[in-house]
Amino acid sequence: MRLNKLQLRDFRNYEALSLEFDPGVNLIVGKNAQGKTNLLEAVAYLGAGKSFRALKQTEMVRFSADFADLEGEIFSQNRLQTLRWVIFNGARPRQIWRNGAKKKTTAEIAGVLNTVLFCPEDLMVLKAGASARRRLGDQALCQLRPNYDAALTEYNRILDQKSRILKDHFENPAVLEILPEYNARLCQVGALLISYRARFYKSLGEEAARFHNAFSGGVEDFDLQYKTVSTVSDPFAPVAELTSALQAHLESHYRAELETGTCLTGPHKDDFSVSLSGIDLKAYGSQGQTRTAAISLKLAQRELQKRESGEEPVLLLDDVLSELDPARQDFVLNQITSGQVFITCCEPGQYTKLGKTIEIEKGNVI
Ligand code: ATP
Ligand code: MG
Repeated sequence: MRLNKLQLRDFRNYEALSLEFDPGVNLIVGKNAQGKTNLLEAVAYLGAGKSFRALKQTEMVRFSADFADLEGEIFSQNRLQTLRWVIFNGARPRQIWRNGAKKKTTAEIAGVLNTVLFCPEDLMVLKAGASARRRLGDQALCQLRPNYDAALTEYNRILDQKSRILKDHFENPAVLEILPEYNARLCQVGALLISYRARFYKSLGEEAARFHNAFSGGVEDFDLQYKTVSTVSDPFAPVAELTSALQAHLESHYRAELETGTCLTGPHKDDFSVSLSGIDLKAYGSQGQTRTAAISLKLAQRELQKRESGEEPVLLLDDVLSELDPARQDFVLNQITSGQVFITCCEPGQYTKLGKTIEIEKGNVI
């Protein structure tokens, strides 16, 4: 799959932009704060309806504008397609179009444009807190499985409501009446998340091990372990079994949750760990090992998406190559000889003379 054209109106610092891209490598160069990452954000948002940096959708609307408009022409699923989003500066819900027809959910545009983002923070993800790893996994899994995306959204919504109940019950004990209902639903949807994650992390770990092995010359044995709540002994168990395990878990934390007024545990605290030849990377890994393992994870994510849809997702490398030593740079570039890639950097002509170089200054192409 590839993005042929992109048009932006009032998206971040782009007032009006119209660009055509190379089917291979697109190098986006410019000084700091000119809009390079904003452009990658637009590409990722176009495909998934999710931003990797905005907390609120209004952040993406250009200051003082009423709405942002993004439109792209994509070649995927053997045909030319278009995607369009309008994001409002306010509470009004965003709008989506696929091939000119209005759509209600992101599931209806799944598979048109998949992207894999790789940024400098990802390089240290295996040393970071659990939430960074969860974000990485969720981002990948949401694109692979629209049903997972829907379940995750629902889980987070119920969790928000439960949090409010737990906060309010001190002043208003009557709200506790509806708590069991929320807990039951949370266990059902949570079990679904665990089931998806178990399968996803298994495949991701296997693929990443292949890449890591290739880079380390077969010296290090890469192993990824998915970690979820303690009462789940087998995350591959049937969903009904997982639901009961989660119920048992919540019951044992019922008192503590009431006393602290917060949602203490559940799949929203899931994590994964990586070990190299049996040695835990988070605790003992060197910087180089940590970076190589992170690169392997990202390449694995790209591979899984390719396997799933039969098409190479668009790779977005945000400032990541300049962070790597020459050996790791070569490794990444040698693994991505096919498919479309967007590479941002501050120095023109640094990595490749192939494809197209786009120079950005203050939200304009020069
Ligand atoms: P760096 O090389 O430092 O990573 P960059 O080219 O990637 O820089 P971006 O993060 O893409 O820079 O753009 C940042 C600029 O966009 C900032 O100057 C910021 O003020 C501006 N910006 C961000 N959101 C908006 C918005 N909603 N409206 C207008 N400008 C915005
Ligand atoms: Mg940037």
